[in-house]
Amino acid sequence: MSGGVADPRRRVPRTDVVLADPAVAAAVAEFGRPRVKAAVGVAQERARRGEVAPEAVAQAALAALAAPTPRVVLNATGVVLHTNLGRAALSASAVAALVAAAGHTDVELDLRTGRRARRGRDTLAVLAAAVPHAQAAHVVNNGAAALVLAATALAGGREIVVSRGELVEIGDGFRLPELLESTGARLREVGTTNRTTVADYAAAVGERTGFVLKVHPSNFVVSGFTSAAPVRDLAGLGAPVVVDIGSGLLAADPLLPAEPDAGSALRAGAALVTASGDKLLGGPQAGLLFGTADVVDRLRRHPLARALRVDKLTLAALAATVAGPVSPTWSALRADPVALRGRAQRLREDLVAAGHAAEVTPCVSVVGGGGAPGVELPSWAVALPQRYAQPLRLGEPAVLGRVARGRVLLDLRCVPAEADGRLREAVLRVGGARCG
Ligand SMILES: *Cc1c(COP(=O)(O)O)cnc(C)c1O
Repeated sequence: MSGGVADPRRRVPRTDVVLADPAVAAAVAEFGRPRVKAAVGVAQERARRGEVAPEAVAQAALAALAAPTPRVVLNATGVVLHTNLGRAALSASAVAALVAAAGHTDVELDLRTGRRARRGRDTLAVLAAAVPHAQAAHVVNNGAAALVLAATALAGGREIVVSRGELVEIGDGFRLPELLESTGARLREVGTTNRTTVADYAAAVGERTGFVLKVHPSNFVVSGFTSAAPVRDLAGLGAPVVVDIGSGLLAADPLLPAEPDAGSALRAGAALVTASGDKLLGGPQAGLLFGTADVVDRLRRHPLARALRVDKLTLAALAATVAGPVSPTWSALRADPVALRGRAQRLREDLVAAGHAAEVTPCVSVVGGGGAPGVELPSWAVALPQRYAQPLRLGEPAVLGRVARGRVLLDLRCVPAEADGRLREAVLRVGGARCG
């Protein structure tokens, strides 16, 4: 050290000194030690490079921890549409469309004439073309918004005839009956929890009916002495039939034979179908509405439609999702168990070689996210001791597995094969954190 200027590397505070700072200690309680240590390490590195004053290392680490960006999570839960992880992961083409749409686009402009055009018309055309029997399509913020718009525009001050077996809670305390009533429409409940016949609906349909509603029980199964009226029979009762299929299958798929789809509901006579964009469609959060031209037009022109409209990013990602190629959701749903087993064995070998108690185990994945209840997909996982679960969640990237019987299972079905290396590194870092 000549000239009296101290080398900044010598003044960067040691990790234990930074961790002893009261604010940093509080952060350890909130975020966990591995994550705080990692943030401190990055701040020390920045201080060595002269980007951060040595006395500001704790502050820089805390700022990084408080960064508001969502944290990237590898979904090793085996739940394909995990609500807490944001449901569907977008395809590479949908991501590219999002990025392109982030700037200025022709979302509401006809470039040939230079005049205003219908917002999102290309996306609406792509959607309508993808659903057999749909004359028109409209997009709102989510499935719940689609129902609210339908109830407001088609049944405001009137009755919605609905089966007692379809008064569903969609999650987090939100119940469809309360959502529908919040629009000013009245519910006319018919039938019983387990059985509702066409005659039950027929007796309730009359002057005051806005529409007959069929709701897909997408997150539970009623079995035993049950019966439900098919859309085809309800379509003859003289009131429009609205079908909330929930999960957003556009056409029937043999992998999920019990799951309703938009095309079949419309063919059976539904005037309107509502669904989510981020469930089985595998796209961004959105509420999809398919139906006859006049019904969709009434919805589109209702004042409430303006409050529920989606942004240009959603429109771009939706069009790209529908245009293909296959989304991560369907790659995961169709993943070959033999291939999953091979990936699990390779991951286990690498982890065992590094001294981790990893095992390969068969497991069962599910669709999740309010879709295809009861469907079980055979899968393969790498199992680690349960104490790995929290450090994995707090790592970079964060890894969420499934804890079962004292172990954390890393189900590979929803982990893209190209992320296996990052998953392996994340587990290896847990080992590193333990030793260090
Ligand atoms: C998921 C679901 C909804 C709610 O859709 P969101 O997109 O979550 O708002 C409504 N109805 C059914 C049948 C559903 O499965």
